[in-house]
Amino acid sequence: MKIIMLGAPGAGKGTQAKMIAEKYSLPHISTGDIFRANIKNGTELGMEAKSYMDKGQLVPDELTVKILLDRVAKDDCKNGYVLDGFPRTIPQAKVLEDALNKTGEKIDYAINVDVPDENIIKRMSGRRACVNCGATYHIVNVPPKKEGICDKCGSELILRDDDKEETVKNRLTVYHDQTQPLIDFYSERKVLKNVDGTLDMMDVFKAITNILG
Ligand code: ADP
Ligand code: AMP
Repeated sequence: MKIIMLGAPGAGKGTQAKMIAEKYSLPHISTGDIFRANIKNGTELGMEAKSYMDKGQLVPDELTVKILLDRVAKDDCKNGYVLDGFPRTIPQAKVLEDALNKTGEKIDYAINVDVPDENIIKRMSGRRACVNCGATYHIVNVPPKKEGICDKCGSELILRDDDKEETVKNRLTVYHDQTQPLIDFYSERKVLKNVDGTLDMMDVFKAITNILG
């Protein structure tokens, strides 16, 4: 099963993608996580990606598409995957579609986690991410057991640089301009499923598992 998560930054794509990946035994592939791992390791790709991410802009398609295609070619993807944060532009979606067409494959579901802009800023300012394992929390909605400490690995939780309010506003503008058109793209391909992302995260997950079966 090949699944794409669509939605604004902070809509809950990552939260749901991790739960889907676990329930259906699929790899969870987040281009944002791949970039952040590269930044942490000080790679050239990381340096370049950071210059865009810090401004709330998208990393250029050429870079992003290459890392994604390399990742989905790995062995663990042969039964499918959950893509979180990719595609974010129509050209990215077309490259993925062309690559899948070559082997007679296709995306099975594009799940749009729908959350209005006014809820997004609140969610992002409360999001905390683990510096070590990337687990995410929310100071009010999904708090860790011990403030500032990751439940899973005990490392420090931080507010991501790109989750600061001004950057989130830029990311929302970029989302509406470049990513939202993917809703029509996947609707035309008859794989789009909308879920109400304002619900409690377990209710969002229930709606998704009703769709996936
Ligand atoms: P995305 O991957 O779409 O950027 P995340 O999954 O990281 O978004 O979620 C953004 C923030 O909102 C996180 O702090 C997360 O804990 C919180 N969150 C996720 N889903 C919900 C929900 N259904 N209700 C309330 N808060 C949520
Ligand atoms: P995310 O973790 O999905 O919120 O992504 C964080 C940031 O990484 C985004 O704001 C972009 O700068 C960059 N990024 C992640 N995925 C992509 C993508 N598919 N295309 C371009 N930029 C991306």
